[in-house]
Amino acid sequence: MSVRPQILLALLCLFVIAPAVAAGASAPSSETAVTLTARGGESMPLGDRVYWVKDSQRTLNSQALLASGLQLPEGMEWTRNESKTPNLGFSEAPFWFAFSVRNASDVHKSELLEIAYPILDYVDVHLINGSGEVRSVYTGDLRPVSSRPIEHRNFLFPIEVAAKDSVTVLIRVQTEGAVQLPVTLWQEAAFFENDQKFQALQFIFAGIMLAIALYNLLIWLFVRISSYLWYILNVLTIALVQLSLHGMTALYLWPDLPELNNHSLVGFITLNMVFVCLFTYGFLNLSQRGRFIRAFVAGFGVYGALVFALSWFLSYGVSIRLAVLGITVGAPVVWMIGIYLSIRGDILARFYTIAWTILLMGHFFLAFNKLGILPRTVFFEYGPQMGAALEVILLSFALAYRINLERQRRFQAQQSLLEAERENREIQRQANELLEHKVRERTRELEAANLQLRKMSSLDGLTGIHNRRYFDETLQKEWSKGSREPSHICLLLIDVDHFKGFNDDHGHLCGDACLQHLAGLLQRSVYRAGDFVARFGGEEFAVLLCHTELEGGAIVAERIRRQVESQPLDWEGQSMPITVSIGVAGTEPMARGIPNSLIASADEALYTAKESGRNCVMTCQPVGADCAPTIEPLSRETLAKV
Ligand code: GH3
Ligand code: MG
Ligand code: MG
Repeated sequence: MSVRPQILLALLCLFVIAPAVAAGASAPSSETAVTLTARGGESMPLGDRVYWVKDSQRTLNSQALLASGLQLPEGMEWTRNESKTPNLGFSEAPFWFAFSVRNASDVHKSELLEIAYPILDYVDVHLINGSGEVRSVYTGDLRPVSSRPIEHRNFLFPIEVAAKDSVTVLIRVQTEGAVQLPVTLWQEAAFFENDQKFQALQFIFAGIMLAIALYNLLIWLFVRISSYLWYILNVLTIALVQLSLHGMTALYLWPDLPELNNHSLVGFITLNMVFVCLFTYGFLNLSQRGRFIRAFVAGFGVYGALVFALSWFLSYGVSIRLAVLGITVGAPVVWMIGIYLSIRGDILARFYTIAWTILLMGHFFLAFNKLGILPRTVFFEYGPQMGAALEVILLSFALAYRINLERQRRFQAQQSLLEAERENREIQRQANELLEHKVRERTRELEAANLQLRKMSSLDGLTGIHNRRYFDETLQKEWSKGSREPSHICLLLIDVDHFKGFNDDHGHLCGDACLQHLAGLLQRSVYRAGDFVARFGGEEFAVLLCHTELEGGAIVAERIRRQVESQPLDWEGQSMPITVSIGVAGTEPMARGIPNSLIASADEALYTAKESGRNCVMTCQPVGADCAPTIEPLSRETLAKV
């Protein structure tokens, strides 16, 4: 009723299906019997000692055959199987197998006949001893496990052969899957010794698969990456497929539910197809790959799901064929996709391909082992299971590798993001610096311009010396300073004599030149720090002398007067004598009222100088006093100091 995985591969290598037979043999007889004493080891594979016949018309029955000494009706004949394992492909019709076992020894022998293919639907075994006694057993995987004489994962039949007697074995097999009969005769003790090891291997396999599934389930619970879930389901289904093929699920999971057992294999195979595709899709990141690859893998998965759904309605024979067809086409193509992506440099695809190759190799080993190309050893017999275990272990490692790879990629992405942020901040910082620099530069320029403006607004346009406004500010400043500490301040007011005449006789330009000439003279005549010259208004000038008493001021005034008198203006080659009258006032700011009183006193002295005939210096003191100030020319002592 069922198909082994190597049959799936057998469709790839068609020669596997073709049984090696020699047709036209006569019926099995005591001459061709297996002689128990003659055998070398404790187990004897009987594959090449078996005769078979296909009952296409379903005309044969055991009673008739046994009664006639296994003689077949006209038109039918026994065929001697020559391969190691009778392998007769898919067939609806029942097959009959027969062989004889002879005990040449003098002791009674208890033997065990094993058919190591537990997924045959119906297996009817008839044992006939030399006295013609018949013992029949009706079992198969479509019958409950309790129908087996010994409840074992394979079909086991005890055979009792009396001394010098022989037993003929007649087996009828009917199954919807492939017809295979790996039949072996064992000494009882040898069988159980050997079977322990094989049974242990089954449990080791189941244990590995379960442990990997559980381990990855825990990882999935934490990381919640879907690849893990598909991987776990892949592990479980592939394990169940293998355990079903070895009769483990029937024996341990549902011994009394043969129908379910019959159905489960197709279910596990098709679900495995679905999960393999889902896993492959995520693991190899196929959403980023070519359309053909994506479509194929997705199609393969959908096909698996479809056959799974249909298998509940179709007969087992049809659904297992559909499943086999899917695997036959899908498995190699998925494997080749892995190879293709590996060649293109995908590291994960390399892991995937190696894992997939190991699994396929396991199946090939079994297929070649069945064909007798490879020796019948545990390693080759259990190729698919070892392949599956190694595959899932490797894939588990590959999954962990993938997670690590993604973590690294994420880390790198974060790093470059941080780098970009740092660069941004640096650019921002440089931009700010540039901006600040420009602002500082502009501020400096503005300050310079302001200074220039202030300077310009404090200068007189015609003469280039300080103007009246600046004079007022300076006087106020010096006055305040002087009011905090004991100090003298002295003011000279200088007025050009008969200046109107200059303008009238020689024009305003000449008058202007005269004022410029005078300004220069005045600036050259005062040189002490704190001395200050300004144009007071019109043709009047003011000289402010800090830390200077009235007498000092009078001396400076007289010196100025003499310098002006002695240095006439040179106007168009003409020497023009100029004279000035000067009024001098001096005071201690601390003691006296407001700066205007100083100006008023100097002005009064100037007025007196004009009244006294011009070209002279008059002093005025005290400043701002209640009593009338005294205005007088320079004393002889003072004049002597000039
Ligand atoms: P006094 O000896 O009494 O001072 O006679 P004065 O002619 O100088 O009389 P006053 O001081 O009243 O004359 C002022 C004249 O100065 C009036 C005006 O024409 C002239 N003046 C004032 N400012 C300027 C100036 O900037 N340039 C020129 N060329 N003349 C000016
Ligand atoms: Mg004047
Ligand atoms: Mg004048």
